[in-house]
Amino acid sequence: MSNVQGVVVKVSGPLVVARGLENARMYEMVRVGEGRLFGEIIEIRSGDCSIQVYEETEGIGPGQPVFRTEEALSVELGPGLIRSIYDGVQRPLDKLHASFGEYIVRGAESPALDRSVQWDFVPVAKVGDTVSHGDILGEVDESKLVSHKIMVPYGVEGKVSRIAPVTGNVDTVVAVIDTSKGPVDISMVQRWPVRKPRPVAKKMPPVQPMTTGQRVLDMFFPLTQGGTACVPGPFGSGKTVVQHQLAKWANAQIVVYVGCGERGNEMTDVLQEFPALIDPKTGEPLMERTVLIANTSNMPVAAREASVFTGITIAEYFRDMGYSVALMADSTSRWAEAMREMSGRLEEMPGEEGYPAYLSSRIASFYERAGNVICKGSDERNGTLSIIGAVSPPGGDFSEPVVQATLRVVKVFWGLDDKLAFARHFPAINWLTSYSLYQEVVDALANEKLQQPWKENRSQAMSILQREAELDELVRLVGMDALPQSDRLLLQAAKMIREDFLHQNAFDDRDTYTSMEKQFKMLDLILTYFNEARPALEAGALLNSLLSLKVLEDIARAKLIEENALHQFDAIKDKLTREIAALPR
Ligand code: ADP
Ligand code: MG
Repeated sequence: MSNVQGVVVKVSGPLVVARGLENARMYEMVRVGEGRLFGEIIEIRSGDCSIQVYEETEGIGPGQPVFRTEEALSVELGPGLIRSIYDGVQRPLDKLHASFGEYIVRGAESPALDRSVQWDFVPVAKVGDTVSHGDILGEVDESKLVSHKIMVPYGVEGKVSRIAPVTGNVDTVVAVIDTSKGPVDISMVQRWPVRKPRPVAKKMPPVQPMTTGQRVLDMFFPLTQGGTACVPGPFGSGKTVVQHQLAKWANAQIVVYVGCGERGNEMTDVLQEFPALIDPKTGEPLMERTVLIANTSNMPVAAREASVFTGITIAEYFRDMGYSVALMADSTSRWAEAMREMSGRLEEMPGEEGYPAYLSSRIASFYERAGNVICKGSDERNGTLSIIGAVSPPGGDFSEPVVQATLRVVKVFWGLDDKLAFARHFPAINWLTSYSLYQEVVDALANEKLQQPWKENRSQAMSILQREAELDELVRLVGMDALPQSDRLLLQAAKMIREDFLHQNAFDDRDTYTSMEKQFKMLDLILTYFNEARPALEAGALLNSLLSLKVLEDIARAKLIEENALHQFDAIKDKLTREIAALPR
């Protein structure tokens, strides 16, 4: 740490103004006061630096020293990230808890990557190889589920002059690269400034679906690997459950979960719940492929502001290894509120609802870091980073600035609805207002992979739901009995789509996940019913008989059919056809 000192001239909550920090730059980290609290310069105005401090500033006052670090707010990247639980500026929460008790001691320093852990480095590159940024030098088994690639850091290029298997902590030198400026030691750890996207060789449009096993999402509002989605909803509508379901079931290899505590105890829940989650695909704890970033509500707002950037940088680093990574942020509203608070203290000109004018661009700068990319490195490996952000607008009002700014950048909108949640229809995703701009990509792939009319069925089902919404209006005005029989049959089909298909219980072992194949079969049963009952009705079959077929119970229970017993769908379909054919007309 440099000795160049400034001095505090003013303190306003988490914001400290210092003078005399010569040549300091925007976003440089500094240490404030005798206690050396962490802070970041967020504004420089005629020599005065405004510093957001990541810790309680009680006791800091004018006259106290400020030290430069000459480094931007950065994260440590290397083996040990997986399974970690960090605060917004990558301090290990579990370690700090263990060493300092319940409350984090200010200025407490504990390295992000534990130096007491030994890792086995296995080389992939050889002596004599010419390498540059992103090339994989070797691998470390980081957890039961993750092989950590040790990559050539940014700005290093040359010939490998030494590399060998070695066991040691992250600081151990694993390779030496001869560069034009001389030999460079490469360890297992590198650093990266969080506000700067990690470079990639090439960014491409997302082309692979991100399956989630959640029927309403995969069928109607699909996400892609490298895509972006927003889950806005009022309190209690199911945002956190959606995020947890995705963490468990989405086909992503690495999960980075950024929790910004909604209620006082909610992060404590996350800290207890998340480590208890089991990865359904492997039976191992989900933490074996997860990095958790937690902001409890008693942590300073500035750390919360930084946390999404800390999270996305860690996520990019795993993407750079060639993994599919999913980042969930729950909830980004708390992040935006942190921005608002800091902006207010800086006395900036407020924009809409007191949020800073740069709210939109800051939100965009986060979501724009998602993507399907060719990573740096000569093997041109593919990596993806998907972002799913929850938003909790006050009163569930989607016209509010954070939802609106998010919708401008994301490609998928899963709108949670308090009426559905109140009626216990979960996931409470409103099928009339939600959308996905990736639908065509996923339709085409699903049609091809399943060799079934996925797209055709999906659009027929959606038009039935849309027609239901129109008819609902009519029913309210004139009553059900006034409707033509064909419309009443349609309402029956719509009800089946809602209750037997869309409704999905996250907490039922058989219902919590549905493969694409099973999703297709489930919806196909309902549509077959509708498409066969309609001509039967026209030919004179009784509506009441059609509405009370025995097979409808089988269709309602089809969601519980095990994934390895999908042949049962054929039997139900046969029964359906037989029952309709047997009706007198
Ligand atoms: P939010 O994060 O929006 O405040 P939560 O995700 O905590 O809301 O959900 C609130 C409650 O709704 C959950 O505790 C659960 O009881 C219920 N719930 C939400 N989604 C589902 C689901 N898919 N299946 C069953 N219950 C759900
Ligand atoms: Mg929640």
